[in-house]
Amino acid sequence: MILGKQIRCKGIHFKDPCLFIEPHSDDIFLSLGYIVSKYKFHKKIITIYGSGKRINEAKKYAYKIGAEHESYGINGKGDNGNTIYNTHINSNLFIKYAKESKVFCPFGLQHPEHIAVRIAVEQYFLQENINYYLDMPYAMKIKNSEYINKQLETQKYLLSYMIKPPATKYNHIPIFRTQSMFFYYNNKDILKFNPEIILRKVDNV
Ligand SMILES: [Zn+2]
Repeated sequence: MILGKQIRCKGIHFKDPCLFIEPHSDDIFLSLGYIVSKYKFHKKIITIYGSGKRINEAKKYAYKIGAEHESYGINGKGDNGNTIYNTHINSNLFIKYAKESKVFCPFGLQHPEHIAVRIAVEQYFLQENINYYLDMPYAMKIKNSEYINKQLETQKYLLSYMIKPPATKYNHIPIFRTQSMFFYYNNKDILKFNPEIILRKVDNV
């Protein structure tokens, strides 16, 4: 077990190839960066939205933590979910992974593109292979934590895994130059309190 005793968890088979799907180029970094960096087996980050410099940042980050990277280059403005479905069907990108791959996708908090990605993942992947990571820093907002609690009660999710990453995780912030304003207002000293949290649906644990 690569990740060490303190972060072993039931229900996630870290030896398997895994896909880490992010709506935008910094979502895996913010929400799951420490866990992914410690995952030593075959791993791939897929960035759904964006192009140009933001995608280059995502590629650079993936390279730094030893992951493959793929981008779909979707312009998600106004996306209600349909764009993402059509793109995947036409390009056959998601489908090639869907049956056998374990996948980590956003729980889908607040941002419509995060919600759209979750919907798409649930359409193409087997539920037993889906792990949900809490979208950071959205999950730290009071109104979103109330929503999470409600979901935990009504839809029977289980906390599969939770860790407070070391502050050194945020040494990668300079990679994300296009997001310098975000990281100015959400700097290392603030972000270091954010945990990385993975949920699964109860039936699949
Ligand atoms: Zn995002």
